[in-house]
Amino acid sequence: MLFLRTFKPDPLNFAVLTSLALAVQDTAVVEIVGDLRDRAAIEAVWRDAFGPDATVDGAVELIPATRETWRREILVRIGAADAIVLNISPKDVDFPDFPFGPPMTEMLNDFWERFMDSPIASPMTGRGLLREICYLNRLQRLPDTVVACEARYQPTLDDLIALGGTMGDAVDRHGNFVTPRLTAIDKQVGHLRKAFRGITYRHPDGGGSLLPAFAAALGSALREVLAGTAGHERPPVDLGNLTGRSASPRPLPPDGALKIVAFTDVEELLFLPPGELIEISHEEMGRILNREAVRLGCPYCHTRLPEMFFFTAGLRRHGLRGDGQRDWPNGICQVCGHKSSLFGDDALAPQ
Ligand SMILES: [Zn+2]
Repeated sequence: MLFLRTFKPDPLNFAVLTSLALAVQDTAVVEIVGDLRDRAAIEAVWRDAFGPDATVDGAVELIPATRETWRREILVRIGAADAIVLNISPKDVDFPDFPFGPPMTEMLNDFWERFMDSPIASPMTGRGLLREICYLNRLQRLPDTVVACEARYQPTLDDLIALGGTMGDAVDRHGNFVTPRLTAIDKQVGHLRKAFRGITYRHPDGGGSLLPAFAAALGSALREVLAGTAGHERPPVDLGNLTGRSASPRPLPPDGALKIVAFTDVEELLFLPPGELIEISHEEMGRILNREAVRLGCPYCHTRLPEMFFFTAGLRRHGLRGDGQRDWPNGICQVCGHKSSLFGDDALAPQ
């Protein structure tokens, strides 16, 4: 049983963890990827929940990871777990704290106009949430995932999922999103529709290290997940195609097409385009872009160039200059998810 959290510093993570441990006690070990500070925090919450003599040994396994290794560690554990519980934290950096208000059906047309007319801002959704969804989706484990969320944030999360799902369908014939307001990052949240179930909990102000009613609901949902996956042999996770960099072509997400990603670790890329491609290094892009283009960065959100992934279609390079056949660089911003491409010889234009 793997426990994932979208925002590490949220103290509610550990109340969810103890409730999960209670839900699966004597039948499964709960894995959590973290560091030594987590161990001390978990032990304190554990004693608070189960008594001064209680020990986490045998119930929770802390998988130690460093800043460099945790992404790979999480990928491996997602691939191997029988079931996954994802705690979505409303404290996630950019989790929207505005309520959308009435259900979608009661929204006035005017709402949509105002929504669509507002300028493209930063993504509403935090990076932590996005990374977990991205990894669960790449490993096709969302159907084995139970999503936990504090009850008062459920309406916002529901709206995000609904909007992400709806908007995700609005693409042109090249697969580019045509809706102006939601960033591609927010649209990815729509993938959460594939999760097995969402369960909310209420955490009383001022405490509670254990949520028994929530634990009961988690337990029955996880038993259903396990009953569904029992007997299904999952293909082993090929980490070689989900992590690291390589100068030779590999089948990579999202479509398994051959791609050469030689300058960036694949697990760092939340947005990888479909189709065969070769990555173009930031150094090479920096040599051809004019000073203004470098200063502007992403044409949508003005994130710096190093936060963008540059590539050209196909598995052969022709060079970025010349009158004959040449590469045509595209960039996908890893912050807002939008795609841009070379304009003229030395600038980037939105796509
Ligand atoms: Zn951007």
